[in-house]
Amino acid sequence: MLRRLSIRVRLALLGSAVSALVVLGYAVLAVTFLERGLLDSLDQRLVIDAELLERSLLWDGERTRLVGAVEARPGAGFEDSLWSEVVDAEDRPLWRSPSLGARRLPAASERAFAGREFRTALLAGGVEVRLLILSEPIDGKPAVLKVARATEPHHREVGVVRTQLFLAAPAALLLALLGAWFLAGRALRPVERMREELEQVTAEQLSARLALPPARDELAKLAATVNGVLARLERSFETLRQFTSDASHELRTPLAAMRAELEVCLREARSAEDYRSALGSALEEISRMTQLVDQLLALSRDDDARAPIALHALDLRGLCAEIVGELEVLAEEKQQRLECSGDAAVMALADEPLLRRVLVNLVHNAIRYTPEGGHIEVRTERAADGVLVHVDDDGPGIAPEHRARVFDRFYRIDKSRSREHGGTGLGLAIARGAARRMQGTLDVAASPLGGARFTLALRAAEEGG
Ligand code: ADP
Repeated sequence: MLRRLSIRVRLALLGSAVSALVVLGYAVLAVTFLERGLLDSLDQRLVIDAELLERSLLWDGERTRLVGAVEARPGAGFEDSLWSEVVDAEDRPLWRSPSLGARRLPAASERAFAGREFRTALLAGGVEVRLLILSEPIDGKPAVLKVARATEPHHREVGVVRTQLFLAAPAALLLALLGAWFLAGRALRPVERMREELEQVTAEQLSARLALPPARDELAKLAATVNGVLARLERSFETLRQFTSDASHELRTPLAAMRAELEVCLREARSAEDYRSALGSALEEISRMTQLVDQLLALSRDDDARAPIALHALDLRGLCAEIVGELEVLAEEKQQRLECSGDAAVMALADEPLLRRVLVNLVHNAIRYTPEGGHIEVRTERAADGVLVHVDDDGPGIAPEHRARVFDRFYRIDKSRSREHGGTGLGLAIARGAARRMQGTLDVAASPLGGARFTLALRAAEEGG
């Protein structure tokens, strides 16, 4: 229920609830202290009452009864709320104030009585009193004095304070609520500003950034994070835009070539030979486009793959030998030497179709870009933190300035040469994507053979795993 409310309302409610609790605690403490204070002053008054009583009583002739002059004491008199009694050690009355009537004041509690005792007691007729019992010799003869006053006036006083606090509570609560509402509004204002700024951001206008608040607080951190997300979004939108335009450009070229060829062919009657040749080159363009579309699909599948793939232990050396065997015929066409070497017992943690895709790509590129009679070597190797496959060739190599970019989509060092080889510029991008999906890396360097060295690093499978 509370979750449905806005943060401002929640903060205001929470803030005022906390203030209400604090005020309530304060009020309870104040009333308790007031009660204690009033009781203390009542006790002090009783001490004075007892002193006055003691001074105003005298023994009669036989020293068995007391006679008092209290009634005659000017100004003092006996208030209705003051009751006094003097008793002997057995609680037999020696003197009683007229205000008591037929009532008696309670006896001293036997065990606790140590000459002086304060106590709250209930008199006959339901009157609550504060009672002081004092053992005090009168005129040299032992006696016990009891003085009591009704507690009702001080209860009334506390009641008045309690009512005032109770009446002031709604106003205090309202003030707390308003204060919390105002503070929450102030605290949330930058958030509202950020929301307005973010509303301006669209796919076309991803360059907008949030203004960073001057304070280095939580909101500044949030704004910086949002700006980071926007920057990444902008970059990936840009890449996507570039990719779409490159892809359509790549598809347009073979389509235009095919269209031109077919148009020329249709302009006048041709021989069967000419038609066959036109169809042959159309087929070639179509197979190039099919390859391109397949690669685009592979790329989008890699981009899509959010779930981690299951990796298995694979015999790396065995798979390399298999691929070398499959592609050997292409190398033979160019009189190239294609070899496979390395540690036989290298087990990699990989996914077979993905690993195959990477290796075929690397070996195929090496064959394509290495001139006739060249040398290509695939080597498996165990490294400190995994396993490696190097694909080396003694071809032209890749100049350092191109090394970072050959993995970009559609990037080709020599466009015309690559196309002539049937390249699309997507192979290495796909291979690196596949390596990453297997939690590995793919990099290029200079080869000890003189050409390019592509190195695929993968995690090693546990021994026997
Ligand atoms: P392509 O389809 O053009 O081969 P790739 O992504 O596979 O696309 O390769 C990108 C570019 O990297 C190629 O156009 C080529 O210029 C260069 N390249 C790839 N492999 C090699 C290699 N073994 N030797 C030299 N250049 C290479």
